[in-house]
This record gives sequence, C-alpha cells and structure tokens, in this order.
Amino acid sequence: MPATSSPRPPRPTLAEQFPAPDSLSEIARRLAERYLPTPPTPRRAAEPTDGLIGTILSQQNTAAITRRQFDALKAAYPRWEAALADGPDGIEAVLKAAGGGLSRVKSAYIFQVLDRLEETRGTLSLKDTREMDDTQVRTLLESLPGVGMKTASCVLLFDLARPAMPVDTHIWRISRRLELTPGHWNAVKVEKWFDEVLARDWQVRYTFHVSAIRHGRETCKAQRPRCEACVLQELCPSAGVFLNA
Ligand code: SF4
Repeated sequence: MPATSSPRPPRPTLAEQFPAPDSLSEIARRLAERYLPTPPTPRRAAEPTDGLIGTILSQQNTAAITRRQFDALKAAYPRWEAALADGPDGIEAVLKAAGGGLSRVKSAYIFQVLDRLEETRGTLSLKDTREMDDTQVRTLLESLPGVGMKTASCVLLFDLARPAMPVDTHIWRISRRLELTPGHWNAVKVEKWFDEVLARDWQVRYTFHVSAIRHGRETCKAQRPRCEACVLQELCPSAGVFLNA
C-alpha cells in the first residue's frame, strides 16, 4: 500500500517570521503627531488613470517637477486618448518641454501603459476600479507594463482611498534603522510585511506612509540622520551608532 504523504505545513507569514515589535504603535503615533497631526480625509480621484500617470511621473522626480509635467500633459492631451494617438515621441516632447529628467523612459512607460489599457480593456479609463475589490484592482494594475507593487499601492492608497501601504526608499531605510524588518529584506518584502502588521484601515496606513516619508526626508535622512532631533530616538536601536559617530 503506497504511503500517504502528510500535507505540507503552511509557510509562515512574514509577520510570523519577524513579528512586529511592541513599539510599532508608539512609533506610528509619534510620527503622526510630529508630521501629520491633522487626520487626513479620504479623497478619490475623479479618474484613477490620472493618478496612475502621476505616480509614474513621480518616480525619481521631485513633487514640483511631477506637478509641472502632469499639468503639461493634461494641457497637451485633455484626454489620454490623444496622448496614445500622439505616441511616445510626442509625449516625450511634452515632458521635455516641462523640464525634468528621464523624459524618454517615462514617455515610453506612459505610452505602453495607455496602449495596454486600450488593447485589453478598450478604454483608458480606470473609473470602474472603484467597484472592484482591492485584490482585483491590484491584479489589474500590476498586469500593466512596468507597474509594480509600489506603483499599484500608490494608486490604491492615494486615488482610490484603499488601505495599501507603499514602501518607498525612505520607509525602507527607516524600517531597517528602527530594526522593524531585517536589513537584507528588499522593499517589496518590507511592503508585504507592513501589509500584514498594520491595521487594514485607510487612515492608519495613509498616516503612517505620509508621516514616515516626511520623517525620512526631514530627519532620518540617508546621509547623516538628525538623531538628536528625532522623536523616535529612545525607540531606535541605531540612534547610538549615529549619535556616537
Ligand atoms: S534615531 Fe536616528 S536613525 Fe533612528 S529613526 Fe531617528 S533619525 Fe533615524
């Protein structure tokens, strides 16, 4: 009689492998108090495609350049169908005229996304995502060329008011310094960990995301963090290293 194999035990979740420290809620509270004391109210974009294009433009760009390039695109192409018809060279010319780098890469990226939307859905609008659940929206967005977990999470969080938790380079760095997550985890893994440990609540995640990014820009900078002025100093295992350097 053949031996019956017992079912494999389920893989431990990231939070089981690396449980959130008790200090996480206090860290979140202090960051919110310091950087985002007024609770945010959810906003939904009139057209989530705008949010997706804006997120693509924001990658490796300042907020000011992102806004300028987005406004230039909207002025040149009041409807995204016009950008698709104009093609990558036309989009690139608009981005170049608005200033900022990576116009060639971004224009190709935007064109490919619009082209795929047209090809697979017959529309460039993403308004119907409002009726989808979070998993369906993520699956749709991540099926688009070049759209990864973080970009999809940004659209979910900022344009659809869903409880996503994008992890950018600031949040990734802070998580390592605070030893919330192991130093060898990449940003995608850290994002999955946060998705497991943070309350699935839009306001909680929006507040943590925005305040942690501001903390990374203003205080826990990549070069020379300002630990002496940090509201997390006594909760941070790295503070002593930097303060004594
Ligand atoms: S104490 Fe220093 S290293 Fe730790 S979070 Fe604050 S600024 Fe960053």
